[in-house]
Amino acid sequence: MTRHMERSMASSLRQFAGLGSPDGTAASSCFLHRYSPNFCAFAALRPTRPATAAKTRLRAAPAEQQQQQEEATPCHDHEPPAPFLRVGIVGFGNFGQFIAGGVQRQGHAVLAVSRSDYSAYCSQHGIRFFRSVDALCEEQPDVLLICSSILSTESVVRAIPFHKLRPDTIVADVLSVKQFPRNLLLEILPPGFGIVCTHPMFGPESGKHGWGKLPFVYDKVRVAEDGDQAAKCDQFLSIFEQEGCRMVEMSCAEHDRYAAGSQFITHTIGRVLSQLNLKSTPINTKGYETLLQLTENTVSDSFDLYYGLFMYNVNATEQLDNLDKAFEKVRQMLYGRLHDLLRKQIVERVPVAATSSGKLKDGRSSAAVAPIFL
Ligand code: NAP
Repeated sequence: MTRHMERSMASSLRQFAGLGSPDGTAASSCFLHRYSPNFCAFAALRPTRPATAAKTRLRAAPAEQQQQQEEATPCHDHEPPAPFLRVGIVGFGNFGQFIAGGVQRQGHAVLAVSRSDYSAYCSQHGIRFFRSVDALCEEQPDVLLICSSILSTESVVRAIPFHKLRPDTIVADVLSVKQFPRNLLLEILPPGFGIVCTHPMFGPESGKHGWGKLPFVYDKVRVAEDGDQAAKCDQFLSIFEQEGCRMVEMSCAEHDRYAAGSQFITHTIGRVLSQLNLKSTPINTKGYETLLQLTENTVSDSFDLYYGLFMYNVNATEQLDNLDKAFEKVRQMLYGRLHDLLRKQIVERVPVAATSSGKLKDGRSSAAVAPIFL
């Protein structure tokens, strides 16, 4: 589909549905919620997100796409289809590409921009790649989805020319920490812009076989209650709902508290294990297999991501300290017992005596301490 066709299709549908024109001048209220005509007559027109579109790769030729949609879309008198969204992804690395797959599966168009050149990947996947964020913003996507590294997000967001976007654009992010982007976006974005902070709690590894039942955390930080913005926000979130995610609405602060105690600990253990250079053996236990898998999953993410989990979550330092203390405690439990036994030998100069029952005086089995006497 050409750029012009994509725009005019989205534009005519938006106006038809009362969702506003691309220049932001149209209807203020959401027609879709108020009026339910028979949309079947317009089936041929709609670049919609049918429920079964998941299996249909988008960006097919227009005629083929229309035919697929007509075949796939059930006609419900009271459920008019929403026009497809145009989602601009800023930061098209590992996770940006992964998330683009779900956006496309749900029938929406993806526009992408990144520091590196992903034009070859994009042309293979029916995605329009832009060389600059300015050029992407001139296209006025409905949703701008920030998928850059946590560390680069501030400079990436500050470089966005917001004046080129429609004044009710929704800016969303997928950062693995949430308070930081929430506060950043509230500080930088013009007041009319919607803000939706999200964290898909999965990635290219854990989500490679589908997103079903995987948690998707979101916080509608600032979304106008009625009209176009609210409808677009719901439509954006429905991408993940339709993919089968377990939708969890939660404040950014609450997310960061939970994530420090779960995700950050998981990544830290994975990183520590990776330092041991663990290898598969012919006698792997299930537990060991899990550790190998954890190590592999963790190190497949960039170190920038891991460092971001630490640096940009106020709760992470406390969790790192807790982990340190826990490790020390376990070490003390082992060495404490060993020291007791050694001291008895060194100071009392006698082997630890066993009772007639075969138990040591402190109640342990003499067999358990046998190596000490070797
Ligand atoms: P990442 O290393 O955290 O981020 C890589 C992305 O950041 C790439 O798009 C890269 O652009 C961009 N980037 C890095 N440094 C930059 C800079 N100085 N200026 C401009 N752009 C820069 O790896 P990721 O896995 O793709 O994660 C992306 C985001 O998704 C992160 O915020 C992460 O927290 C979030 N997330 C990741 C996962 C996951 O499983 N990986 C899950 C949930 C959420 P280029 O590629 O163009 O260089």
